Amino acid sequence: MAGILVYSNKSTLALELLNAAAGLAQTDSRRVKALSINNNGQAAQLAARGAEVLALEDPALNPADPAVMARAIGQVAAQVEARIILLSSDRRGKELAGRLAQIWGAGCLTDVKSLKSENGALLCIRNVLGGATVATQQIVSDRQVIAISPGAFAAAGERTGGTVRPAVVEVKPSALKLLEVREKAGDSVDIEAADILVVVGQGVENRQDLPLIQEIAKALGAEVACSKPVASDKKWLGEERIVGLSGKICKPQLAVILGVSGQVQFTVGIREAGTIVSINSDEKAFMNSMADYVLVADLKDIIPELAKQLA
Ligand SMILES: Cc1cc2nc3c(=O)[nH]c(=O)nc-3n(C[C@H](O)[C@H](O)[C@H](O)COP(=O)(O)OP(=O)(O)OC[C@H]3O[C@@H](n4cnc5c(N)ncnc54)[C@H](O)[C@@H]3O)c2cc1C
Repeated sequence: MAGILVYSNKSTLALELLNAAAGLAQTDSRRVKALSINNNGQAAQLAARGAEVLALEDPALNPADPAVMARAIGQVAAQVEARIILLSSDRRGKELAGRLAQIWGAGCLTDVKSLKSENGALLCIRNVLGGATVATQQIVSDRQVIAISPGAFAAAGERTGGTVRPAVVEVKPSALKLLEVREKAGDSVDIEAADILVVVGQGVENRQDLPLIQEIAKALGAEVACSKPVASDKKWLGEERIVGLSGKICKPQLAVILGVSGQVQFTVGIREAGTIVSINSDEKAFMNSMADYVLVADLKDIIPELAKQLA
């Protein structure tokens, strides 16, 4: 059976990939190896979850340069005779997936939500048509690059038996000269990791209501997220808070959704929430049909009242 190599530059996602791979290894007796690049801490974390880790140390390798990263990962995959590479389907992972598939002569699927093994075939379940539908797809080529959505799998649990050994590759120096790496300015919120989200839609008409919404979120132990136009058009909140197709796919236990109509590009990012509460003045808003609890009301009245009740 083909071996599996997992890699993400983000340690939390690498642990999720390890769990996904372990599931496949169990059903198909595939051999799993994890790759860490210039990250000893991650190598140790993966090993503590029972992984056979290949630790690559090379200053020429930088996650910001996916072309060189792809060549390096391809070489490691060849060395360990992997036929399947699992990457994270975040922004960087998706670019890496495409480049790696091209270099490695593999088929590629991104935004994969779950994996299923059937009679030796690896089936990938993913959103298609802008999230309007879910498709089960299979890569038919021998080599497969599969990028898995963040949060689709739980992180691998602790296990004994993990090892770390060095890996060596020869990559041509990058044609890209990296001058500086800077932390993203502003917000560094991780709405995908939040257990509770308060989501601001265009039904919140006054920007002055944002501090009250932040108070509501704080009282609930929630992060504030938003629909796309609230960030991209109105610029009220940072783009890292967008829920949906062009933002983040979130799986909170509770989502309190304030004035969102429920277009598919939004709902694809929240439909897996445990409990959805929708507050909307339009009873027929599509968002309401997906919600567990609906309050048909004007947010101008509800936001101050909710903040008062939760204070
Ligand atoms: C390629 C593509 C990708 C996209 N990606 C995303 C994405 O990732 N995320 C995303 O969110 N969108 C995305 N969109 C945009 C998406 O199609 C919708 O336009 C957007 O989600 C609408 O945002 P909204 O629900 O906040 O606003 P609206 O559609 O304007 O809805 C506002 C809602 O608030 C209600 N409302 C109005 N006033 C009040 C009030 N006073 N009290 C209570 N309720 C009130 C209304 O009844 C309505 O239901 C994308 C679009 C495209 C084409």
